[in-house]
This record gives sequence, C-alpha cells and structure tokens, in this order.
Amino acid sequence: MKTKPSDSQNQLSLLEAEGVDANAASSTQGITKTLQDPKQNSSGQGESTGRVRRTIELRRSGPFMELDGQKIPIELNRSRRRTVGMTLLEGRIKVTAPNWVPLAEIANILDYKSRWLTNRLKEWQLRQANKLEPEARWAHGATIQFLGQACSLSLRANLDEVIWDAKTATIFVPAAGAPNHEQVRDRVHGFMQAQAKEILKERLDILAERSGRSYSKFSLTHARTRWGSCTQEGHIRLNWRLVQFSLQVIDYVVAHELAHLKAMDHSRSFWDEVATILPDYKAGQQGLKGVTFESVS
Ligand SMILES: [Zn+2]
Repeated sequence: MKTKPSDSQNQLSLLEAEGVDANAASSTQGITKTLQDPKQNSSGQGESTGRVRRTIELRRSGPFMELDGQKIPIELNRSRRRTVGMTLLEGRIKVTAPNWVPLAEIANILDYKSRWLTNRLKEWQLRQANKLEPEARWAHGATIQFLGQACSLSLRANLDEVIWDAKTATIFVPAAGAPNHEQVRDRVHGFMQAQAKEILKERLDILAERSGRSYSKFSLTHARTRWGSCTQEGHIRLNWRLVQFSLQVIDYVVAHELAHLKAMDHSRSFWDEVATILPDYKAGQQGLKGVTFESVS
C-alpha cells in the first residue's frame, strides 16, 4: 500500500479560506496577547510588558505573524460575515473577520491555527521554489527545505563535504572548481540521501519499538511516485525526499506504513491503527497535503 502525494484538486482546496467559528475558538485558553488595533489604538497603550512572548503583532507599521522563524505579513479585512476566515496566499496571511470580533480574539485564533498556517506557508514555498529554473534553484543563496526548515544554500570553495547548520538554517556545499547547477544538486541530493538512510531508519525503529510493531526490512526509494510503501512481508520502503519535511511529517508516513503491517487497505481499522502508533498523526498528514513530487527538490 502506498502513501501517495495528493492530487492537484487537493491543492486547490487548500487555497480556500478555512472558516473558524469565533465563539468556539475564543474558548482556547492560556494565550496572552497584547495588541494594537491599527484603527483604534496608535498611542502605544496596548504595548506588551515585554514578558509576553509575542508571535503576532498587529500594528500600523504592518501586522505580521511569526511562522517557522519568518515574519509573515497579515492582511486584516473586516466584513459582515459571521465567522473568522483565514488563508495564506502569496506568502501573506489574509484574515477576514466580523466587525464585532476584537483584535485580541483574532490573534488568539491565528495562534490557534499557527500549525495549519505553517503548513500552508511551507507548501507555498515549495511551489515557489519549483517555479525557479534549475540554475536559480541550485545556486548560492537559493532556498531548500531540509527537515522542514527553509535553509539557504551557501557555496563554499574550501569545503569537501556538505554541511547542514541548523542554527543559521544554512546548507554549505563544496564549490571548488565552480560546479554547475547539476553538480550542486547532486551534492545536495547525495547529502540528503545519506541523511535519509539514517534519519528515516531511526524514526522507523523508534515508532516500531514504541508501538510494539515490527517490520522485516527497510530500504530507501528514489522514485518520484510515492512517499512510502509496505509489502505483505513487512518490507517498508521510504522515499529519501521525506527528509525535506519535518519529523512530524516523516513520522506520519512511517506510522502509515507501519499500520499497513496490520491492514493493507485504508479502512477505518487501518486509520485506527495509525492513530494507535502515532496519536497526533493528523498534524504530519496535513504537512503533505497539496505537496506533489513536482514541488519537492
Ligand atoms: Zn497506505
């Protein structure tokens, strides 16, 4: 059974605004926000005490929300609709809210949806990268995803192996002899495949052991057709390109294939098995929605 990339129809649905019931979301507790309404309050009255970690700021100079370490602009539109809706379009968060919903409430809702928004952002960034010509995609300063982190490629003449620096979100690539884009791509892919061999095997072992399931064999796949597969004999194959995604996404695919050890279909009992292996699997599943093999590097 296969974990397939979503089709293009799925991708379209992700661009639609997702409605959130303002009243239901207002019950989410524990999020403290200090906000300035660009219309009502420009005096600084609502400034944070400095003790509150703010990920969302709505202010005259331009509201933004921090997602995955990036400042994403927010566009707020008031309307007569009854619920708060939001979407991530062209790298911007667009929020439509009823006039009566206070800004603090909108901030709460955005915070509540931050994981969903982060997934939409990543999906958009993957599609943007895909629009680039290979020469621009595999050049110094280009962005590439590794373990769900948007990393910039840095070509260095004095290196002999690819190095990933998570702190600065940089992938350093040996560039002695002025490699062309294909050579840069091959070096990055070589690094990722070596990482995949270890990381994917490790996640598989961790989830298998934690859930008491056992597989017979593991191997990496290279085909741009599926994320993973599992045979009747318990041979699990995982696509090396999965290392471009977060551990949450990787764990979902691993749990999905492990669940096929029990059910070879996608029946109700199969999904129950996925949930037993990885209770929070939906978060990772969401990260693959709308992602096609054309959009991964
Ligand atoms: Zn499956």
